[in-house]
Amino acid sequence: MKVLKFGGTSVGSPERMQGVREIITRDSDKKIVVLSAVSGTTNTLVEVASEYAKGNSDKSIQIINDLYAKYEKFVDDLFKGEDFKKKGMEVVDKYFEQINKLIKQPFYEQTEKILVVQGELISTNLFTLHLQEEGINANIIPAAEFMVLNEQSEPDLLEIESRLEGFLEENKSYDILITQGFICKNFNGGIDNLKRGGSDYSATLIGAAIGAEEAQIWTDIDGMHNNDPRIVENTFPIAQLSFDEAGELAYFGAKILHPNCIVPAQQRNVPVRIKNTMDPDAKGTLITSEKNPDTVKAIAVKDGITAIKVKSSRMILAYGFLRRIFEVFEKYKTPIDMITTSEIAVSVTIDDPKNLTEIVEEISPYGSVEVDKNQSIICVVGDFVAQRKGVGKDIFKALEDIPIRMISYGGSKNNISMLIDTNYKKEALIALNKNLFGL
Ligand code: ASP
Ligand code: MG
Repeated sequence: MKVLKFGGTSVGSPERMQGVREIITRDSDKKIVVLSAVSGTTNTLVEVASEYAKGNSDKSIQIINDLYAKYEKFVDDLFKGEDFKKKGMEVVDKYFEQINKLIKQPFYEQTEKILVVQGELISTNLFTLHLQEEGINANIIPAAEFMVLNEQSEPDLLEIESRLEGFLEENKSYDILITQGFICKNFNGGIDNLKRGGSDYSATLIGAAIGAEEAQIWTDIDGMHNNDPRIVENTFPIAQLSFDEAGELAYFGAKILHPNCIVPAQQRNVPVRIKNTMDPDAKGTLITSEKNPDTVKAIAVKDGITAIKVKSSRMILAYGFLRRIFEVFEKYKTPIDMITTSEIAVSVTIDDPKNLTEIVEEISPYGSVEVDKNQSIICVVGDFVAQRKGVGKDIFKALEDIPIRMISYGGSKNNISMLIDTNYKKEALIALNKNLFGL
């Protein structure tokens, strides 16, 4: 069995939804189809929640009404017959009733959580009806009833597996099962979500839980590219990546995949394939356990990075210095991405500057602190063995005219990272594309 996930733009209009139907009915294999919300809907629901939380209830009602009008048109265009148009509007009305009810109650954290997942409930129910109107033997299964988190707020794969088994057994007469991405239930039984972009994660979790032949992520690009196609002209889709390489790429910059989604696939060795809904025959990118030693696969970039350098106030570095510094980051729940150290100083990067002022204040007693904002991590991903000669030369030759703030290699053998000022980003990506890929 395969799992196929379609993102927001892939279900973004009635025509695109019909396109998804064509893709999933190209063969008669049994499959699970995971859908995101129609593009724009989750953002709109986040906005509704934030206006409502601020007390702007008129504004939030206005936004909801505009969204409702879009769905009225969507339903009218998606369905052919009057009976299905009516059923489609019943779906829309049911979930909008829920949305309207929520914003009449006092606002609390759970309100937002329930609000933001309504988009997936609408898209999957409309799509299932559409398949039924087309005579396809499909049914819907509720993600909230099997996608569950454990006490640490991590997906509980064993529990997901056993619950899904039950749903598959109950629905074994159906060819296609539709379910929601993004939605889950937390350990307390409350509705929750797998964070923005989490539908990818839903798909690989389901793939891992059922031991799928493959988890496919259908999106609006023909695979993961060797460089950022929004910035660099000559890029190409990467045919194959190892799980480790894809994990690095998903985390650093390449916005195509949710950063965690490789983890369950790698754990249960389920291949992940990225495909383009606009060009279903394009090969896309296949992610498997296969490694290709000594190859450079891609260049990724992550912006919005802050670098913090702490220079010890004592000339001879005493033990405990790093621990004291790291404890401050831990206290403020701020993850560190990159670290470099010298005998008397340490530099770290963070991508969440929310508590920067407090962090700087609390590390100041241990040394002089310098902060550089507006930095980018450029990350060269591949399978580098220490013996490989020449990668370093090719990278640094490309960056010869660019000031490098930090360099990190050796943490994993799949990435070499450099920190530069974001102003040099474009120049660096183009030069690396030329030197590493000859483009
Ligand atoms: N609809 C959710 C979002 O926009 C989840 C997803 O699309 O992956 O973040
Ligand atoms: Mg996405």
